[in-house]
Amino acid sequence: MKFTDLGLAEPILRAVREQGYDTPTPIQAQAIPAVLAGGDLLAGAQTGTGKTAGFTLPLLQRLSSTPPARDARGRIAIRALILTPTRELAAQVEESVRSYGKYLKLSSMVMFGGVGMQPQIDRLRQGVDILVATPGRLLDHQQQGTLDLSHVQILVLDEADRMLDMGFIHDIRKVLALLPPQRQNLLFSATFSDEIKALADRLLNRPALIEVARRNATADTIAQKVIPVGRDKKKELLAHLIRSGDWHQVLVFTRMKHGANRLAEYLNDHGISAMAIHGNKSQGARTKALAEFKAGTLQVLVATDIAARGIDIDQLPHVVNFELPNVPEDYVHRIGRTGRAGAPGQALSLVCLDEEIFLADIEKLIKRAIPRETVPGFEPPPGERAEPIVLGRMTIGVGGARRGGGGGRPGGGHPDTRRDAPKPAARPPQPARREGTALQGQPSRHGGAPRHDRVGAGHATQPAPHGQPHGRRDAPRPGPRLTQPKR
Ligand code: AMP
Repeated sequence: MKFTDLGLAEPILRAVREQGYDTPTPIQAQAIPAVLAGGDLLAGAQTGTGKTAGFTLPLLQRLSSTPPARDARGRIAIRALILTPTRELAAQVEESVRSYGKYLKLSSMVMFGGVGMQPQIDRLRQGVDILVATPGRLLDHQQQGTLDLSHVQILVLDEADRMLDMGFIHDIRKVLALLPPQRQNLLFSATFSDEIKALADRLLNRPALIEVARRNATADTIAQKVIPVGRDKKKELLAHLIRSGDWHQVLVFTRMKHGANRLAEYLNDHGISAMAIHGNKSQGARTKALAEFKAGTLQVLVATDIAARGIDIDQLPHVVNFELPNVPEDYVHRIGRTGRAGAPGQALSLVCLDEEIFLADIEKLIKRAIPRETVPGFEPPPGERAEPIVLGRMTIGVGGARRGGGGGRPGGGHPDTRRDAPKPAARPPQPARREGTALQGQPSRHGGAPRHDRVGAGHATQPAPHGQPHGRRDAPRPGPRLTQPKR
């Protein structure tokens, strides 16, 4: 299969050629004809699969083959709206729109919070065909009356699962209410939890369903290792590994924003250049850190899960889990940053006794035991005992904690949450219910055939999720191993 077989116009093919791509990825091969046909789409695809071009290329083609829409004042009106969970992803998607659309007469803009409104208002006034935005800032503009979404023909929800994880469901609903009812809807999600299915039911009309595996099969290209370590020796061990391995580009994950800051400070104090990126950092600081890291002048980038989401860095040699994620799926997202496009990568997890509970969940999800290797001098000291892990106002782990019951999201919050994210303590512990973690197909509620809750092998079918009964809609996440809220 070649790009030229997909029915794309020459100016788009030219831009694709200039990117150096000649073979479409599986998601592109399936999504491009489906979107060009004009129907809705539900696509299971993660970062790294080529999903961005999968929706951008046909979107550009559809818009460029019809005349621009005009608002009441005769200005070019927004015909395509792409919503993303994070600023970084919004910026990257809009960059893709610009590079793939460079030979077309279409205009685009990116809109996210953390930067001034006025330049965005000025840009909107000039007229925009394609808007890439995060939901919060979009609604800010709507409230100020500076945004007209009444001409939108195509809506894309990119990384919809992450938007729901970040508590954006209400914002998404508000945005949907601002759009004309007649439109094409494309929903991209790495996982198909009940919440995603509920959103898809509400949003999509007889969608084509596409699921693809990650381009980089984790088992083959990523060497995963667990290094058991004493709780108080983690920072020292990380500095030791970086120095002794002569690592020059390391992405390090922490669970919490303040942990990311403290670790970056420690590394800098010990002669290793490091910067932290997370939701509290200004856009300028995040962009600078990412640019330096990509250029190879910054040795270590310390990130929380949400901040790192959507960052595309090819062939990253080392990913380190300084702390294991409490959401097991985040482990898969994290280590997917290395070993890209068949290049070998290394994913190390520094695990202290407190985190064994998270490790068990991760190994259950990925269906394999991760090899353990100790580094002499950094082992957990004899007699060290597991202690509970405090995440925000929740305590997870030992001390009355339940084992193996759920997905590790206390009350639905994520440690690096943003505005409107559900407050963990606001919700009582829920009965255990694992979401989006099953690797096996589950009995279908849609008539017999197994459904896959996670991304599986590539195929396209036509499900009819409309009007199907579902479980609790927008139900809070489970509260596994939750002991008591901390005051
Ligand atoms: P995405 O999943 O959209 O974040 O894309 C991941 C990476 O794959 C990006 O660096 C793209 O530039 C790259 N990519 C997208 N499509 C192709 C393709 N057909 N061939 C090679 N690389 C691609």
